[in-house]
Amino acid sequence: MEPIGDLERELEELRETYKSGKTKEASWRRSQLKSLLSLLEEREEDIFQALHQDIGKNHVESYRDEVGILIKSVNYALDCLKQWMSGKNVKLPMVTFPTRAELVPEPLGIVLIISSWNFPFGLSLEPLIGAIAAGNVVVLKPSELAPASSSVLATTLHSYLDNKAVKVIQGGPSVGDQLLQQKWDKIFFTGSPRVARIVMTAAAKHLTPVTLELGGKCPAVVDALSSSWDREMAIKRILGGKFGACAGQACIGIDYILTEKKFATTLIEEMKVLIKKMFGENPRESHSVARIINKHHFLSLKSLLDDPMVKASVVYGGSLDEDHLFIEPTILLDPPLEAAIMNEEIFGPLLPIISLEKIEESVEFIKSRPRGLSVYAFTKNEKLMRRLISETSSGSLIFNDAIIQYAADTVPFGGVGESGFGRYHGKFSFDAFTHEKAVVRRHFLIEFWFRFPPWNDYKMQLFKSAYRYNYLSVVLITLGLKKSSQCSKTH
Ligand code: NAD
Repeated sequence: MEPIGDLERELEELRETYKSGKTKEASWRRSQLKSLLSLLEEREEDIFQALHQDIGKNHVESYRDEVGILIKSVNYALDCLKQWMSGKNVKLPMVTFPTRAELVPEPLGIVLIISSWNFPFGLSLEPLIGAIAAGNVVVLKPSELAPASSSVLATTLHSYLDNKAVKVIQGGPSVGDQLLQQKWDKIFFTGSPRVARIVMTAAAKHLTPVTLELGGKCPAVVDALSSSWDREMAIKRILGGKFGACAGQACIGIDYILTEKKFATTLIEEMKVLIKKMFGENPRESHSVARIINKHHFLSLKSLLDDPMVKASVVYGGSLDEDHLFIEPTILLDPPLEAAIMNEEIFGPLLPIISLEKIEESVEFIKSRPRGLSVYAFTKNEKLMRRLISETSSGSLIFNDAIIQYAADTVPFGGVGESGFGRYHGKFSFDAFTHEKAVVRRHFLIEFWFRFPPWNDYKMQLFKSAYRYNYLSVVLITLGLKKSSQCSKTH
């Protein structure tokens, strides 16, 4: 096990910083967010290079999915910080009159963020924005599988942010394991369900709240769109949501397609044309396809195709280059439903299409499988849309596009069931690292005498009114201007 140098001292420093109260100050939060913005703007090139080195991401893709989105998120947090930090007045039941109450957000304290490798900056810094905005001190452990990105995160965060309040600890599972043995006020984890179980077990020991951002299979229902304009737009978005985002290594990437048998051939033929437009005749030479993260993951993707029945279902692509960790955008038609490719999260550029007699069958298909982070549906059929909304469950449901929800600040990002729990982005990130404290201020002006013993039936009637009716009826009953028995009639 690689020991973490001076972990105790680092954590003690974080605790001292938190105790000093400085991270609670709006000015501190604002200055840290501004520094993060400077980091993203000034070190853009380092980030691009790291992402290229780790996963072969094109700079444009890196800007679209990581740097650009993060700049947007920091600016949004800066704009909203004052509002997020201010308490919210809330109404109280009439028996508490006269009283004022508010919800006062307070930071949770010392938080641990463990992130994944596929969007190493986005998945580390997006939660960090929330943690800082909420006034916490933070340890971030990026994934060891994107070492160049992890190293850029460690060096840049150290020099741009208050390093007595934000620390990056690099390393793999053994480092993660040592961190999990510590007591945290919150653990925010992005990764696999397997490690999420380890995280939750460790968190249970200290009753630490957790957010688990996991994965799963995200289906895309593709209806037979009759207009060629709509079809082309849908297919571009499908290809972008599969092959154009980290070569399919994205938790919200499209995992497989459900479509009608009679439409499958048209869909595949038009996909082939557009794949060539996006990635050229020889995608291996394209600078727009990211690489598979490492040999281990490459081999597990390869093993999905090794099944002869699956291999026979390949209708496009299928070439692999182990030396360059490259897998061609690949389409499969009707691989066996029992095959691993239809039961494990694919997390790579392999796209099975499952054909159904009627598109409505897609609802039952999705319902019969574990709940994923997203369901996508490309359709204009209002009835189908309504059925998908009311009958299926997933972290999000997106019509006529894919992965776009990741860029939104106003809709929560997170899973349900096997795809995790808790949510973030925008205000939801602030809330993920905040405790809303109920602050109740009573006055000494008057009191409802029936709140106190000795008990009698009249007081019972008054309580029934007080809890069920508005303040005015209680006052009227108390003053004898309204009969309490009138209230009991409605019971
Ligand atoms: P992973 O679970 O292997 O690793 C995630 C993080 O946990 C890494 O930082 C890793 O070092 C750490 N870790 C590994 N073993 C650990 C242990 N024993 N103790 C403590 N920490 C440990 O996942 P991954 O390979 O990085 O990511 C792939 C999975 O993550 C996929 O299932 C994908 O869908 C999911 N994912 C989800 C999101 C999301 O936002 N919901 C984003 C990206 C990836």
